[in-house]
Amino acid sequence: MLVNLLDFDLAGLTDFCKSLGEKGFRATQLFRWIHQRGASEFSQMTDLAKSLREKLPTVATITGLKVISQHESTDGTIKWLFDVGNGNAIESVYIPESDRATLCVSSQAGCAVACRFCSTGHQGFSRNLSTGEIIAQLWFAEHYLKQKLGRTDRIISNVVMMGMGEPLQNYNALVPALKTMLDDHGYGLSRRRVTVSTSGVVPMIDRLAQDCPVSLAVSLHAPNNDLRSHLVPINIKYPLQELLTSCNSYLKSAPRDFITIEYCMLDGVNDTDDHARQLIDLLVKQSSTRLSCKINLIPFNPFPASGLLCSSKERVASFAALLNQAGVITTVRKTRGDDIDAACGQLAGEVVDRTKIQSRLAKRATIPIQIASSTGASNAHELPPEEAYSQ
Ligand code: SF4
Repeated sequence: MLVNLLDFDLAGLTDFCKSLGEKGFRATQLFRWIHQRGASEFSQMTDLAKSLREKLPTVATITGLKVISQHESTDGTIKWLFDVGNGNAIESVYIPESDRATLCVSSQAGCAVACRFCSTGHQGFSRNLSTGEIIAQLWFAEHYLKQKLGRTDRIISNVVMMGMGEPLQNYNALVPALKTMLDDHGYGLSRRRVTVSTSGVVPMIDRLAQDCPVSLAVSLHAPNNDLRSHLVPINIKYPLQELLTSCNSYLKSAPRDFITIEYCMLDGVNDTDDHARQLIDLLVKQSSTRLSCKINLIPFNPFPASGLLCSSKERVASFAALLNQAGVITTVRKTRGDDIDAACGQLAGEVVDRTKIQSRLAKRATIPIQIASSTGASNAHELPPEEAYSQ
């Protein structure tokens, strides 16, 4: 069986080259050909010894992902759907802006965390992606765009691990992919420009701080444990106090002096003035959970199975104003690629669910959460009750 060289960070590729009896510096040459020049054929690598160029195809391959579809928005956003085999598909989204170009990358086919407001979470979980499948999304996008735009300089300046999946539940494959993104012989991205977004897998946040500290974003979505356990069920296992303690220790090794807090605005569920005050209490006032952070409010992109609606623009603005007045820098995420349904975290690739999440969600009893909606009308959202979160 051929080894896919996209599965290696530079240290792994060096070990592989040594196992072939080659000097370590050959790995650097190979790594640069693959990641900086986008080579997928060993015959292209003209500065490698001929004997090595002939040997490599007998033991290794450089195999990316098959593109199923590509959709380009009028605002320049591009969404790719990639085939990862056995009926599973994942998505990556390229978001160009005036001062940066971000690629949103997937880490799993599906996701086992089952957040209530996330279409990926409603699809269930199929499998972890390999390091090669994670990095192949960047490899493809970077070199495809270079060709399309006729450029030789680096195109993608930022990577956010916010596509399908909980990256910290695929830790062993994630870390070599991150190291390849950061490596000067790879993509040369700074730690500040690579962000891992997590629902709060506390032990792995602690490990990431040791192994590969990059920027951290936390999907919070609720200011108290009761509500968060309904919206982000991993909260039952790692409640807010534990999560925020872990975020505070992460800051000691983080490349930025703040953590990004993501908060999806759900009409009548988590978006009242009282929720904003609870959030201020949690993140600013209480000394045990205080956190240096910036809050990113995300307008919810509704999908039928969620039974949830997006907060009104006015509600989002009032919520942001309360937080900003309390000294927490709060921004509202601009929606991009609306015409191609490109919202990160609400991606729509198909997966073969091995966790039977849809039938589990359907079987659960529901309880209504009765909260006055931002429109003034009473708004009952049926949310499943807490259940033992077993991962
Ligand atoms: S929001 Fe993230 S962690 Fe939650 S279900 Fe969706 S992909 Fe998984």
